[in-house]
This record gives sequence, structure tokens and C-alpha cells, in this order.
Amino acid sequence: MDEFVQAHMSIVVSATVEALRKHGFGAEFFATRDDAVRFIMEHAADCQTVGIAGTHSARALGIVPLLEQAGKKVYDHWKLKLGTPEELECRKMQSQADLFISSTNALTMTGEIVNREGAGNRTNAMTFGPRKTIIVAGTNKIVPNIDAAIARLENVAGPVRAMSLKRKTPCVKAGRCMDCDSPERICRITSIIHRQPMFSKITVAILNEHLGY
Ligand code: SF4
Repeated sequence: MDEFVQAHMSIVVSATVEALRKHGFGAEFFATRDDAVRFIMEHAADCQTVGIAGTHSARALGIVPLLEQAGKKVYDHWKLKLGTPEELECRKMQSQADLFISSTNALTMTGEIVNREGAGNRTNAMTFGPRKTIIVAGTNKIVPNIDAAIARLENVAGPVRAMSLKRKTPCVKAGRCMDCDSPERICRITSIIHRQPMFSKITVAILNEHLGY
């Protein structure tokens, strides 16, 4: 990476970590994937059950097989057929797990965590239920403030996610949100976590790379 791009990113990451901590969240920056994996496994050590959201970022670390090898019961709905009773039950169990692992759609430099989704299992489990939540995010998820976070949801995360799911929504062709009324609309819930939730401990693990969308 260009030295000035690196210097700028360093300032952005430091400001984000500081703002998140000021809002009561745990926040750590990891230079390598190995360091992040070690951190997650340390957090999982005293947990019997782990819920994993539909996240590319956390899965990119290979965390699911590692947790299973460590004897954890992992609730991973991606292993089940969408919409079946087993898949829905798995999503529910994520909210009751000891640890929940997720990515996020946006992190703000002012210290908020912003997400938009269709089902709500991720936003629910992030804020209430599990004793602790780890949010894995690449530096590409960092934006200046809440307005920029919403713009990111509409211009990047939503259209790319719809594309990956092969949805027939207008954003797939337009490249930006058209606030559609499609039955295939994936954007049904927006969550802004302003401060550490009262009964769940969120820690954000920021990775030194471009990860997920
Ligand atoms: S609301 Fe519709 S058009 Fe907008 S990003 Fe979501 S699925 Fe795409």
C-alpha cells in the first residue's frame, strides 16, 4: 500500500477505535488474520455455544471449523436449507449462544455500528441474548459518520449483497439502492448501535484489509 494511503488509514483506524471505546465498546485493530483468529479463539475459550451470522468477513478467517475443532456447538444457518424449520431454529439459537460472531455493514469514525438486513437474526443477536459479541470488520467498513454509513448501506452493501444472492432487485442493475418494493427486497431492518448494549458486551475486531461488503 502507498505510504500516504497507509498513513491516512492509520489515522482513520485509530480515530474509529478511540470513538468505539468512548462509546463503551471493545475495539481492537489487528495487523494480521492470525492475530485476529487468536483473539477470537481466546474469547471463545469460556463459551460452549457460538452463533455465527451470515458473514463473509468472519468466515474468511476460517473461524467456523476452528471453533468446531475446539468442541464448540456452532449455530451456522448457512449449513442448512434456507427457510426450513431447522434453518429458522438455528437462527433463533444464535440469539441464545454464549458468543455471537458477526461482521457489520459499517463502522463510523464517530463510534457507531450500523447494519441493514432482511431477517433480523443478526441485528437481534448483536444487541441482546449472547453474553458477548465479536464483530469482525475490514477497514473498508469504516466511514466518517452515520449519514455516510447509511450511504454505504445503500450504495455498496445492499446492491452487492443482493447481487451475491442473485436477487432480482433494481439495485443489481443500477448499482445503487432504488428503495424498491420488490418481494425479493433484502433491506428490511436498519440497526444503529450507539452505545454498548446494557446486557451484552460487543467487541469490534478491525482487520488490516478489505473484507466482505
Ligand atoms: S432496498 Fe431494494 S433496491 Fe435498495 S439495496 Fe435493498 S434490495 Fe436493493
